[in-house]
Amino acid sequence: MKAIVVREFGGPEVLKLEEIPTPSSAANQVLVRIHAAGVNPYDTYMRNGTYSIKPPLPYTPGSDGAGVVEAIGEGVHEVKPGDRVYVAKTVTGAYAEYALALESQVHPLPAKITYAQGAGVWVPYGTAYHALCQSTRARASEILLVHGASGGVGIAGIQIARALGLIAFGTAGTEKGLELVKREGAHHVFNHTKSGYLEEILKATGGIGVDIILEMLANVNLGQDLRLLAPHGRVVVIGSRGDVSISPRDLMTRRASIHAFTLWGITEAEEKEIHAGLLAGLENGTLRPIVGKELPLAEAGRAHKEILEQGAFGKIVLLS
Ligand code: NAP
Repeated sequence: MKAIVVREFGGPEVLKLEEIPTPSSAANQVLVRIHAAGVNPYDTYMRNGTYSIKPPLPYTPGSDGAGVVEAIGEGVHEVKPGDRVYVAKTVTGAYAEYALALESQVHPLPAKITYAQGAGVWVPYGTAYHALCQSTRARASEILLVHGASGGVGIAGIQIARALGLIAFGTAGTEKGLELVKREGAHHVFNHTKSGYLEEILKATGGIGVDIILEMLANVNLGQDLRLLAPHGRVVVIGSRGDVSISPRDLMTRRASIHAFTLWGITEAEEKEIHAGLLAGLENGTLRPIVGKELPLAEAGRAHKEILEQGAFGKIVLLS
């Protein structure tokens, strides 16, 4: 099979398309013919060797993908060959024509969701679901700000918020991104590259502040976020690429809190709940992953460059 193989940590050029043996499914494992793999920012940090998880070399990147079950190992009961599925983590890596996954990592893909969309389910929607439903326990009528709403996690956050009955605000850095965020359900959109946009957000709440912030770039925004919060407000740190200073008094005066997590650290029970919630949303049409760019597997390096550039528009996926 064709697969992307990383033999040394480094820049996007270390992502090499190679011909390697197709794995076969052992007990409790499922072999999936991957038609689309999702590209996430963490894939780039891992490839650089700077992420908290450093896989042994060589490795094939990718936790997110969608395709068709090719074969099952002994003891697998929940899926059978021919089933359409998405994967949430794998044993051998999703940037490949075939990936081995544990039975617990394979989930049904509703007929109305394409493989490319399915590749954008786990990390983006799992993260947004955990942030809103499990971490902050968002309630209908609360005001949410998705700070960085035009990318994978942001769009998921807006769609989930609307399904739950929240008032959704979102930011993006380009006109195209702002239009997308609005189209996917945001009540108000703001451009995070324009000076004065934070004051505009506060004004849109009538000066009260927002109840929840999903923060995609905490090293830049966390200090300001705290000043946008309503009493008892919560910020969820989802993405951060460096250090930041905050004024603790901004938390104290509002009885506010900062939540933070990585999806790798959630419990099995939380994960089970997330997949059940996502499946319901994918089936009833409230969750619609947005695929902004499809590239062939061979162009994984280009995908890794582009995912870190400004101008996000939903997901970048690799087709195989
Ligand atoms: P993405 O698709 O690349 O989107 C990045 C988002 O950040 C875009 O909406 C982008 O907007 C926005 N952004 C850029 N500059 C910003 C600024 N100054 N203020 C606010 N937002 C800004 O990435 P993603 O998949 O959504 O992930 C977002 C972040 O969360 C990444 O850092 C990722 O590593 C992290 N993450 C963490 C977890 C976890 O488990 N904690 C899980 C998933 C993702 P424009 O491009 O329109 O400017």
